[in-house]
Amino acid sequence: MLQGTENSMKDILERARVIQKKYSAFITIADKIEGKTKGKLAGIAISVKDNICTAGMQTTAGSKILEGYIPPFNATCVEKILKEGGAILGKTAMDEFGFGTFSVNCAYEIPKNPLDTSRSCGGSSGGAACLTLAADFPHIAVAESTGGSISCPAAFTGTVGLTPTYGRVSRWGLVDYANSLDKIGCIGKSVEDVALLLSVISGPDNYDSTVLDLPEEDFTKYLKVSVKGMRIGVPKEYFENVDEKIAEVVWSAIKKLEDLGASYKEISLPYTKYALPSYYIIAMAESSTNLAKFCGMRYGFHMGLQGNFDEYFSTVREKTFGEEAKRRIVLGTFARMAGFRDAYYLKALKVRTKIIEDFKTVFKKFDILAAPTMPVVAPRFDEIEKLEPIEVYMMDILTVAPNLAGIPMISVPCGFVTKLPVGLHLIGDHLQEKKILQVAYAFEQVKK
Ligand code: GLN
Repeated sequence: MLQGTENSMKDILERARVIQKKYSAFITIADKIEGKTKGKLAGIAISVKDNICTAGMQTTAGSKILEGYIPPFNATCVEKILKEGGAILGKTAMDEFGFGTFSVNCAYEIPKNPLDTSRSCGGSSGGAACLTLAADFPHIAVAESTGGSISCPAAFTGTVGLTPTYGRVSRWGLVDYANSLDKIGCIGKSVEDVALLLSVISGPDNYDSTVLDLPEEDFTKYLKVSVKGMRIGVPKEYFENVDEKIAEVVWSAIKKLEDLGASYKEISLPYTKYALPSYYIIAMAESSTNLAKFCGMRYGFHMGLQGNFDEYFSTVREKTFGEEAKRRIVLGTFARMAGFRDAYYLKALKVRTKIIEDFKTVFKKFDILAAPTMPVVAPRFDEIEKLEPIEVYMMDILTVAPNLAGIPMISVPCGFVTKLPVGLHLIGDHLQEKKILQVAYAFEQVKK
């Protein structure tokens, strides 16, 4: 591992620029990075998804409306990284505000999959996964998931993506997509990398009233614990609508876990089929309220003031929001309207409770769940172009339910289909990050 000296940091910056030219992983690269010699992250470059505030460094959340916005403060997770000696390398590309599954809904350059540049890195944390795979220097990415944005890009790039329990990591300084769903997490080359970064960024924070008041924890200490006796539930619904070859690869991964001393059983999560509509109603309703504050006056993009306030902000929003953001504002506002609220939004919340109960029931008997992360391998951009919005939303079929429940999940690479990586999704009960990390690590070791 490189030491955190001035020279090695300069070298890292140069290598990051080469990666940028090839794959467009960043929206902004730091002008200069400082190497520290003390702390858990000393000598490691940390990239931050562009919807997380970094003092003095542009933060756009992938949107034109925030172009030029330079936050005067650091998000709590960024502060914690700096305290542990991590060097902030830059801000990674993403779907505008997190709205997407392929990082193509971005106002800036679209990140390309280093395994095949005609393919997507997944989304919405596509740049984070792209950089993680391409980096030939010590690096871990801070990413964020609302409905699958960490697991999906990790699966498509063959990297490791950890989404913690909702409330494990402070959201202070995050440009919200949907407050009841957003979770800051990590993408790394190995299970150890994500466990290390989670140990740094998690923990209590006075600035976020939804963060859990739990003592700081060293997650790396769970990695070498044997998985003997671990009970794994395999939800049968998570193999429906999945590419057959992907299902095969995931099943052979589950069998490997059995060889390590874990046991598995097929189970059912009957409310799974309602997860997608419930997720999209809740996520859009919350996002449409969150976007109301972007009016071309307080943050980022400004224009010469013309007409009254309504005219000014309508022009700014018309010019600067992308198509998907506009779609979500319209649909989300509709779902919250008086007269429709009970039929859509409140019903979606009730379904969410049922989904949580589904998980709670199986976690009485099982330690973790195992499933494929995504139903397909990384698609080509020309295939994505042909998809209707609803077909894009369908791609999230396996990730939205655990995200709605706020439970932790990790995607680890478990094999290939047509030379493209497949993710094994390990899902745990609330606050059981240790179990999914333990199993993911054991699996990673046998795979080697
Ligand atoms: N693809 C999902 C969406 O568009 C999830 C994205 C995310 O987790 N930010 O909402």
